[in-house]
Amino acid sequence: MADLALAAVRKEYGDAVALEELTLSVRDGEFFTLVGPSGCGKTTTLRLVAGLEEPTDGVVRLGGEDAAGVPPEDRDVGVVFQSYALFPHMTVRENIRYGLTFSDPPGGVTPDERVDELLDLVNLPGMGDREPDELSGGQQQRIALARALAPAPGVLLLDEPMSALDARLREQLRRQVKQIQDELGVTTLYVTHDQEEALAVSDRLAVMHNGRAEQVGTPQAIYESPETPFVAGFVGENNLFAGVVETRQNGRLVVAVDGAPAGEERVELEAAEGYTPGDRIQFCVRPDALSTDAALNRFTVDIESAEYLGGTARLYGEWADEDVVLRLPEPEVEPVTVGFVPGDATLL
Ligand code: ATP
Repeated sequence: MADLALAAVRKEYGDAVALEELTLSVRDGEFFTLVGPSGCGKTTTLRLVAGLEEPTDGVVRLGGEDAAGVPPEDRDVGVVFQSYALFPHMTVRENIRYGLTFSDPPGGVTPDERVDELLDLVNLPGMGDREPDELSGGQQQRIALARALAPAPGVLLLDEPMSALDARLREQLRRQVKQIQDELGVTTLYVTHDQEEALAVSDRLAVMHNGRAEQVGTPQAIYESPETPFVAGFVGENNLFAGVVETRQNGRLVVAVDGAPAGEERVELEAAEGYTPGDRIQFCVRPDALSTDAALNRFTVDIESAEYLGGTARLYGEWADEDVVLRLPEPEVEPVTVGFVPGDATLL
């Protein structure tokens, strides 16, 4: 079993608290991502799993066993770091073989046969005799991945492995990493600050904020049903509003939006039971849910700037004292009236 769990893990460095209290469980074979802004504790979490740090409090479990005191080389984990950590004076073959320092190759093959298997896996066959500086950045990261996978670890840890690459190469490499992970079925913990990347590759992700996991779920669940204003704002673009529940009508809430101009104060939102008049609420609406054709919940946005994106445009403006982002076919600069279907708003 190559599952991985953290239970109430806290990590302090002197007075600095890197992790407040983190509880997570990654299933066997899952591609699980930690995403969040700089300093939220992603790398710290990965280092705790790798055994490069020990928690101040709480437990890290690997394959069901408490990992406390188990040195990195005995943890059955492979790690790929942000910068290409290849040894510059060694060939590609020697670099990958280094991954077998603490264990024999799996499947009874020789180390050199294992290197060839891995070069095929990362789609760089025949590159064994090259030196790292004869490879592109993306190729170097694929070699670093091959080295981490050499002993067939139960858990693969990836810390922003694409961040030094340009955008196109990053997308290419992330597809390759995902494909290799699928093929091997290795339990993977992936760290990134890029929410788009997190949505693209993960089976599930944790959105981290201030040393905690603020929400854990599938990419769809996180994107479509953010539970907090932070998650709503961090993952994808969003428009966040606040208001007060006035009434409940036909199963919908009628909400007076804070700061809305006269004639546009009220919106109708679909909501579960449990809200009563007078409750303060926050809700968000994705840019692509705001349309000029919608018949309900219409309001006029003063546009401040617009970007043409090829086929569509992104418009930045203001309504009800809040910044608003729209996705429309044309980059308008005049005020635009849009509306939304009650079910397209998410209550936080
Ligand atoms: P980034 O995306 O910038 O790498 P991160 O989410 O990975 O950020 P961590 O590197 O885990 O964040 O750091 C979490 C917090 O702990 C930060 O405030 C950081 O300054 C602090 N921290 C991390 N390592 C140490 C250390 N060795 N000594 C003191 N503070 C540390």
